[in-house]
Amino acid sequence: MLPTATAGSLPKPAWLAETEVLWPKWRLEEEDLDRGKKDAALVALKEQERAGIDIVGDGEQFRQHFVHGFLEHIQGLDFVNKKRIGIRDNRYEADCPTVTGPISRPRSVHGEEMRFMRAHTDRKLKVTIPGPMTIVDTIADDHYGDRAKLAMEFARLINEEAKELDAIGVDVIQLDEPAFNVYLKEVEDWGIEAIHRAIEGLKCKTAIHICYGYGIKANIDWKHSLGREWRQYETIFPVLARSKLDQVSVECAGSRVPVELLELLEGKDIMVGVIDVATQTVEKPEEVAANIRRAMKHVAPERIIPCTNCGMAPLSRELARGKLEALGAGAALVRKEIGKG
Ligand code: ZN
Repeated sequence: MLPTATAGSLPKPAWLAETEVLWPKWRLEEEDLDRGKKDAALVALKEQERAGIDIVGDGEQFRQHFVHGFLEHIQGLDFVNKKRIGIRDNRYEADCPTVTGPISRPRSVHGEEMRFMRAHTDRKLKVTIPGPMTIVDTIADDHYGDRAKLAMEFARLINEEAKELDAIGVDVIQLDEPAFNVYLKEVEDWGIEAIHRAIEGLKCKTAIHICYGYGIKANIDWKHSLGREWRQYETIFPVLARSKLDQVSVECAGSRVPVELLELLEGKDIMVGVIDVATQTVEKPEEVAANIRRAMKHVAPERIIPCTNCGMAPLSRELARGKLEALGAGAALVRKEIGKG
């Protein structure tokens, strides 16, 4: 009951990469880098286990960025001449690769990494992959000329990758779609269709992480512009409730998402964000427990997965470790209360 999870990313150690930035430069090269990533993933794994996290992951130690880490393995993209484009409806700018020809996935992206992770833990293992709409929104396109068409092409490649990871023994495949609450109309028009294409034929659990972004300045400013209540989810949740996905994440810690909106996700497991990733303080277990109880007024505990609001990649390691421990301890408090501890 109340199994805990993270949204995905954790900070990288300073010996591996720059710290507290979104697009960190690696500090190792070639074979040293490959070994360093594995060591960092092991540390991330053991810290999650020790903190009482039930559904664990690699903390995204193998990739530089949650979108471009996947794209680096895709053919048909120009990664050398990056273009500076506005992303998330021009909320901020990023240097992005360009689609220059038909895209393909010549080899596995995360296969070796997930075999490594599977060999090192008996807990449920989750892997995160960027969703088609978010990829399309984080890339320049000189070839397809149509976002929906390009998204379906990426969905096909994601599906190839996901099937391979499913066969390796990954328990949950999560698609990260922060673009979903930016382009509400497109979600219905083609976003959800692309998701369905991406998860076609999978036996493992499937999840979607939508969010209002990391705790970086551009996102924090945007959040201030959204008004007293964040109701974007009101449009998307009914679409997700009808979808084939098993789990949906919602940031409920320190956000202005009205908690009763969770009721719109009838039938889905909900990764309830009970850890705010945009603060510099560690939550007390009692605060985490209060957030879980708040969600339980609207969702049966059997369907709640206490989780972080979003990735913790831009935080300091100490802060992220503290937040992991608070998450584990807070969920344990509630489990005890409801007699499932
Ligand atoms: Zn997020």
